[in-house]
Amino acid sequence: MYKQIASALLLGSFLMGSRAGADVYVVTTDTTLEDIAKRVGGNKVTVESLARAGDDPHQVDPRPSMVVKLARAKVFARIGMDLDIWVPAILDKSGNSQVQVGGKGYCDCSQNLRILEAPTAKLDPSQGDVHVYGNPHYLLDPANGILAAGNIAAALIRVDPANQPYYHQRFQDFGKEVVARLAKWKEKLASVKGLPVVTYHRSWVYFLARFGLKEYGTVEPKPGIPPSPGHINDLVKSMKADGVKVLLTESFRSARFPTLISEQSGAKVVSVPVAVDADPAAGDYFKLFDTIVDRLAAGFR
Ligand SMILES: [Zn+2]
Repeated sequence: MYKQIASALLLGSFLMGSRAGADVYVVTTDTTLEDIAKRVGGNKVTVESLARAGDDPHQVDPRPSMVVKLARAKVFARIGMDLDIWVPAILDKSGNSQVQVGGKGYCDCSQNLRILEAPTAKLDPSQGDVHVYGNPHYLLDPANGILAAGNIAAALIRVDPANQPYYHQRFQDFGKEVVARLAKWKEKLASVKGLPVVTYHRSWVYFLARFGLKEYGTVEPKPGIPPSPGHINDLVKSMKADGVKVLLTESFRSARFPTLISEQSGAKVVSVPVAVDADPAAGDYFKLFDTIVDRLAAGFR
């Protein structure tokens, strides 16, 4: 692994020397932040994601190519809150002081977030809960894209102050578009407001709160812990009693438990992408939420 990284770094510095133009090179943890960074940075930036579109954001395998990207990055934008717990090891290996925590190009997109499910006592991940700093799935509330874009704009302005008006304007434009689209998405889900939804993982608390749906229960008894047969039986029993119609799950997950629960409870499984490009229909930030909202609305019909 170390030998691979060393040669990858050499190759990286060679490629960097031959890169054309003076774009700000931005690296993001995932494809959703990649799309947001492209929207804010426009033609002043080149953006690449570390994770692939279909990855489980909690479980991304570090690769030598990621270290190379971070070594060249002028800005590194991450989701934070330990959702990207796989980041610190590769960030450290990159040796790039500009994008280390506290560096000019370091950007934690969760900064200033109104955290949901903040723990009252410090949790121990070995106890079977991966959300130790509160719920980290804030990017699934489309309004939090504005927060991420603002944090990215601030980082771009720190490393490239000459283009401050440009980044500021594009951030404003993105914010306006999110607000306009949000009104349309809310309209589409207005008729199912207040209805209960079972989710696979606690990925949806920000989304459900935004659209006024009720999180009824989860397939996982705790975030990151697979269900026991007893947990599934209890869930199915109460879903049937309360007429829960929809089980919402991420498309990267196995269909095994959702299918089982659907067969026994009669609820419909709604499988959706949770990052840009994780589905052919979700090619950008707005299409991602179009897809989630449309599939969810259809699930109740
Ligand atoms: Zn999670």
